[in-house]
Amino acid sequence: MTTQSQGNAVLVVNAGSSSLKFSVFREAGAELAVAINGQISGIGTEPKFEAKDTAKRPLADKAWGPGEPSDRTALLRYLLDWVEDHLDGAKLLAAGHRVVHGGARYSHPVLLTPAVIEELNGLVPLAPLHQPHNLAAIRALGEAHPELPQVACFDTAFHRGQPWQSQTFALPRAMTEEGIRRYGFHGLSYEYIARRLPEMAPELAQAHVVVCHLGSGSSMCAIRAGKSVDSTMGFTAVDGLPMGTRTGRLDPGVLIYLMRAKGMGADDLEKLLYNKSGLLGVSGVSNDMRVLLESADPHAAEAVELFCHAVAKETGSLASSMGGLDAIVFTAGIGERSAPVRARVAEKLAWLGVKLDEAANAANGPKISAADSRIPVWVIPTDEERMIAQHTMEVVDDAGLR
Ligand code: ADP
Repeated sequence: MTTQSQGNAVLVVNAGSSSLKFSVFREAGAELAVAINGQISGIGTEPKFEAKDTAKRPLADKAWGPGEPSDRTALLRYLLDWVEDHLDGAKLLAAGHRVVHGGARYSHPVLLTPAVIEELNGLVPLAPLHQPHNLAAIRALGEAHPELPQVACFDTAFHRGQPWQSQTFALPRAMTEEGIRRYGFHGLSYEYIARRLPEMAPELAQAHVVVCHLGSGSSMCAIRAGKSVDSTMGFTAVDGLPMGTRTGRLDPGVLIYLMRAKGMGADDLEKLLYNKSGLLGVSGVSNDMRVLLESADPHAAEAVELFCHAVAKETGSLASSMGGLDAIVFTAGIGERSAPVRARVAEKLAWLGVKLDEAANAANGPKISAADSRIPVWVIPTDEERMIAQHTMEVVDDAGLR
C-alpha cells in the first residue's frame, strides 16, 4: 500500500439534509494536505456554492437562480467540474463520503458499488436523519461522474471491534440479532485521535484513554491500545451525554410515561429528544455552550453543570469498562475550545488525581494537565475529513485503482 506518488487528490464529502460540506486533499510527499474547503448550502431551496483555500481566501461563490437546474445531481456535477478545474494538474482519484451508519457488518471503509449502496439503504431506518442524505449525495455523484470511484467511511465502523457486552442491550436475544444493539458514533473522530495521540505522546500508545468528543453532538469513547472498547452513544446518536438539543441518556420509562400520559407519538418524541432538549431545553437560553457560559441566567449555569456532571460520570463508567484510565483527551468544538468546561470536568475528577495546568488549559493545550496530575490530560483537535481522505486513499490503493 502506498500513498507516495505525487499529484493525486481526493474529494471528501459530508452531506446533510440541505447542505454538503466538502474538502479537497492532495498528496504532499507521504502526507495528505488539505487544499480546499467549501460547502453547498440551501440544497432544495436556494443553492449556494462556496469554496476557500487554506488561508480562507474565497475561491468561489455562486448562487443558483430560479430556472437554473439545481437538483442534487446538477449540484454535484458542478462541484466535481469545479474541483477538477482547481486541481492544478493533480488527478482526482476518488470521492470519500462520511456515512453515518455501516450497521453491524462494516468495520472498515468500503468501495461503493450498487450492491453496497443498496445494503446501506437498508440501514436508513437505523439513522433516518442522516443516512438518506449521505446516500443521496453518493447516488447523485455517481450519476454525475460514474467513472469516479466512491468510498464510504462510517461513523460506526471504529466501534465494531468492541466486546459484545459493550454492544449489547439486555433485550431478548432475537432483537439483538435483528440489529437492535449499541453501534456507537463519531468513530472517524475517535479513530483520528487514536492515530494522533501516540504521535504526540508515544508513551500512551498502549494506554487506556477516555476521549471526550464534545461538540454540538457529544459523545465519549473508551480507547485501549488504539481500539474502541466502549462508547456513550448506542443504537442512535441520542444516547449518552446531553448535547446542544438532544437529551442524551434518558430513562426509557419516561418515554412510556409521555406516550400514556401525554399521548405523544413517535414524531413528537423524536422532536423532543433530538431538537428541544439538551443544553437548549434545560437552559431555555441556547444550545451553544459559548452563549451559556456568558449568560447570567441561572438556568444556563445549570445546563452547563448537567453537561459537565455527565462528562465526569461517563469518564468513570468508561474507565471501568476498559479496566483502567491512563489519559483523557478532549476534542471537537467544546472540547477543543472551552477551557471553563474542561476545568469543571477536571474538578469533578480530582478524586482520580486529575489536575489541570491553568495556563495550558487557557491556551487550549495540547497538554493541559499539571506536572503532578496523576492522569495526563490532552486537547487534540479532531480532523474527521483527514481521516476520510486517508481511508479513501487506502481503499483506492487496496483496490488497485490508482
Ligand atoms: P459539530 O458537532 O456540529 O461538528 P463542533 O464540534 O464544531 O460541532 O462544535 C460546535 C459547538 O462547539 C458549538 O455549538 C459551541 O457550543 C461549541 N463551541 C465552539 N467554540 C466554543 C468556545 N470557544 N467555547 C465554548 N464552546 C464552544
